[in-house]
Amino acid sequence: MSQGPVVVVGLGGLGAPIAMVLAKSSLPAIRLVDGDTVERSNLHRQVLFSEADVHASKAHVVARAMRDLGYAGKLEVVEAFFVPERALEFAQDASMLVEGVDNLPTKFLVADVAARLDVPVVHSAALRWEGTVLAKPARGACYRCLFEDIPHGADAPNCAGEGVAGPLVGLVGAWAADRVLALRDGALDDTELSRFDGWAASVRQTRVARRAGCSLCRDAGSAFPIDRSRYAAPSTYCVR
Ligand SMILES: [Zn+2]
Repeated sequence: MSQGPVVVVGLGGLGAPIAMVLAKSSLPAIRLVDGDTVERSNLHRQVLFSEADVHASKAHVVARAMRDLGYAGKLEVVEAFFVPERALEFAQDASMLVEGVDNLPTKFLVADVAARLDVPVVHSAALRWEGTVLAKPARGACYRCLFEDIPHGADAPNCAGEGVAGPLVGLVGAWAADRVLALRDGALDDTELSRFDGWAASVRQTRVARRAGCSLCRDAGSAFPIDRSRYAAPSTYCVR
């Protein structure tokens, strides 16, 4: 793996535990990307934040917490959202991407940028009592092998009344960070999908095979354009 930074996209419920685990790692460089600020309603599940942080930049608060936890590597803060127009700029020279964002368009965008850069990527998500972590080596099956494209209409997860269990995001985020370190160490040859059932307290792991006809695997280089029209948000979505 190159010495470039591991780029963490999204520093909320999943990103905070990701950052906590990575703060204790020997990664030489980490770049934190999030344009959001801390809200009081975040505090129950976003474990690095306290009342005093409300209205402060999540990226800056997480960076400070990582230093307090003893992270000694190079730490970069990007106080901006990971959007199609700037995603390649924010991910440039990355050795790996890891995301804990709360919306599907950005998850697809992170997958597409990782493929463009030919670097490993870890995706994490949690909704209600279910969590998933997808850990993809550079040449493994991708997010679009599994999910093809951004769901719209009836297929889109609906945030209304669903929410997410606070403890589950800590577990899923910590596992996502663990997979970052596994990929760094070359421990995964294939893409690995971990599914957590926080209600039944069970974990299932499967290996994911490439899907024939996956547009991203076929056009992973510059033939896969990264422009805003590809990431139009569905009317309702919410995947923590
Ligand atoms: Zn694919």
